[in-house]
Amino acid sequence: MRIACLGLGRMGWHMAGHLANLGEDYNIVVFDVVEELGDQWAAEFPGTTVDSVASAVADAQFIITSLPSDKELATVVKEALVAVGQEAIWIDHSTTSAKIALETGIEVSAVGGHFLDGPVSGGVDGARRGTLSVMVGGDQNAFVQAEPLIGTYASRVRHMGPSGAGQLTKMTNQICVVGLCQALAEGLDFASRAGLDVEKVVEAMLQGSSTSWQMENRADKMLSGEYDFGFSTTLMRKDIGLVLDQASSMGVSLPVTALVGQFLADVDAMGGAGWDWCSLMERQRRFAPDGPSSS
Ligand code: NAD
Repeated sequence: MRIACLGLGRMGWHMAGHLANLGEDYNIVVFDVVEELGDQWAAEFPGTTVDSVASAVADAQFIITSLPSDKELATVVKEALVAVGQEAIWIDHSTTSAKIALETGIEVSAVGGHFLDGPVSGGVDGARRGTLSVMVGGDQNAFVQAEPLIGTYASRVRHMGPSGAGQLTKMTNQICVVGLCQALAEGLDFASRAGLDVEKVVEAMLQGSSTSWQMENRADKMLSGEYDFGFSTTLMRKDIGLVLDQASSMGVSLPVTALVGQFLADVDAMGGAGWDWCSLMERQRRFAPDGPSSS
């Protein structure tokens, strides 16, 4: 079986790697606009790198994309459509608008293939360990065929509904998490300024009603001021932009999400575009009325 993987960034690299380890019945062909990435990947995993989207996609039964945003997906779709085979199943793991997922679904169907929007949650660690959560929109039959492959890098794969439903689910995930992280930053800063042993406070709270994935996995980094890892401020700002556009088209009010989006713009202005977005903590420390606190 031939599988084309396009986009070998922080997430796509590992996804393609898990597929390559499936064995010799699987022929993994990779492409990234950054040529060295394809070469580096092929040096580490059994698979082949090619020099264009069309040559990766040609004769592939499955196409897997993990791209930064709508813009790159649109470019890849344009280059791929001439080569997508009949009944090919395209699984897009990029976080994009629901609109482009819908439009791409129609374009891919028109050339005889199937398009599934399958954004992920779980971060780079989840991709590396193969424990991502994947929320899929699109044709149910295509989903059933794709599920075992997605399962090589995900521990939870759910079909959420028609085209676009995966992206809408991911947006819901982001809405639910942004306020949590800001609240954690405020709580940690408050405890620190109150002179408490903050690590002990976190340890006590982890068993209580305020516990969260963020508290479990990010509180230590936020306390030590280490942000050089993970899901960047830039990517989270992109996701919040997608969420707010979608909410506005639906007439839904998301005041906390919008506010945290502005706080992340502050982090960006502080030089934190590439930091993990839990660097909301850094903004919290610096923007205090009585002056910055230390990490
Ligand atoms: P990334 O920027 O590290 O990787 C994207 C890759 O796509 C890059 O290697 C880039 O060169 C490649 N690319 C860009 N244009 C291309 C084109 N025309 N053809 C082929 N390749 C092209 O991004 P990432 O962190 O791997 O994230 C990928 C997607 O997953 C994003 O939509 C992101 O929002 C989402 N996501 C990321 C994380 C995370 O923790 N990094 C978590 C959840 C979801």
